[in-house]
Amino acid sequence: MAERSYDFLMPSVNFFGPGVISKIGDRAKMLGMKKPVIVTDKFLEGLKDGAVKQTLDSLKAAGVDYVVYNNVEPNPKIRNIKEVKKLYEESGADSIITVGGGSAHDTGKGAGIILTNGDDITKLAGIETLDKALPPLIAVNTTAGTGSELTRHAVITNEETHLKFVVVSWRNIPLVSFNDPTLMLDVPKGLTAATGMDAFVQAVEPYVSVDHNPITDSQCVEAIKLIETSLREAVANGHNLDARTKMVEAEMLAGMAFNNANLGYVHAMAHQLGGQYDAPHGVCCALLLPYVEEYNIIACPDRFAQLAEIMGENTEGLSTRDAAELAIKAMKQLSEDVGIPHSIKEIGAKPEDFELMAESALKDGNAFSNPRKGTKEDIIKIFQAAYDAE
Ligand code: NAD
Repeated sequence: MAERSYDFLMPSVNFFGPGVISKIGDRAKMLGMKKPVIVTDKFLEGLKDGAVKQTLDSLKAAGVDYVVYNNVEPNPKIRNIKEVKKLYEESGADSIITVGGGSAHDTGKGAGIILTNGDDITKLAGIETLDKALPPLIAVNTTAGTGSELTRHAVITNEETHLKFVVVSWRNIPLVSFNDPTLMLDVPKGLTAATGMDAFVQAVEPYVSVDHNPITDSQCVEAIKLIETSLREAVANGHNLDARTKMVEAEMLAGMAFNNANLGYVHAMAHQLGGQYDAPHGVCCALLLPYVEEYNIIACPDRFAQLAEIMGENTEGLSTRDAAELAIKAMKQLSEDVGIPHSIKEIGAKPEDFELMAESALKDGNAFSNPRKGTKEDIIKIFQAAYDAE
């Protein structure tokens, strides 16, 4: 466990629950926002009574003007954040409201970063590299999820190198987050599964991270239990509001946990797959999870044995090692039940890319908190195991 001295970071105000989106206009006004740029994508903007429509209605009712950027791409690129910056400056905007999943939030954060900290965001990759505050930012979350609406991370893809990089700073944390599960009822099955598995990995990695602490442990345990009992139900029936609500609670808990205890090789490696093959982030995480954690077991077998119990497995009479292996089996079963593919082959991964991706994964900010310290060769072997999976 990390030393008993740590920061604990999260947004100062977090709205949670069915219907809370109606409060966004008043909250924007309270923050002094006069003209936010709404950062979203065309699909979400086009939804009849979706998150964007409800956000804009609430802003209008509160007398807050706005301008819309609707070109967010999955695995957001540097070009997206530059476009938002241009619109912000040309329209005389004074703040940012992101509406969507992790891609919208990271686009808004990325734009905020270059608006105040200089144009070349690649130079700002790393931890606590930002000198200046971002413009005021509210995040309206529509997936459960990345936790990006609460975190200090901005994950951006360099479209020239196809590599994802992360800017990690307390200055990236949105001032206010909104998590309204009624905005998630129509998330399709595949996206529910992928984003739910992302939340699951974001609860598992901080639990075994070298930076974990008692606060993040309790968040991880509760998040894992909620996901174990509600992700399958949310995938089976998207309109199950109780399952959706529990998944939002889980993704918030996991987001707070990894914001403070950090992640590990699953995320460090998933960023490479997402950057190279433009594959959905949650699917990349789920595909790598069992192979990374199998590799990690020897670093903290007790923690993995505890994970088996947290996931509801019967570990009575088992050795610590066997209980730890049971946790990996339960992770694979969860992925299988919600329809995640088996091999990274299925998202287009190619063994000839493994070496470059392994080098880059070891430099990713998430690698440093992994419980086992690996070499490039170790990472290549993990990619290979995830590739050979049947
Ligand atoms: P996303 O934001 O990329 O969205 C995927 C698709 O889902 C989009 O086409 C979007 O239109 C659609 N969608 C979103 N909400 C919907 C809704 N309510 N109903 C129907 N469709 C909806 O997906 P994501 O998984 O939330 O975000 C992934 C990104 O987040 C990746 O780039 C990943 O690297 C990043 N990420 C960031 C952090 C962080 O802390 N900053 C953490 C984890 C992941």
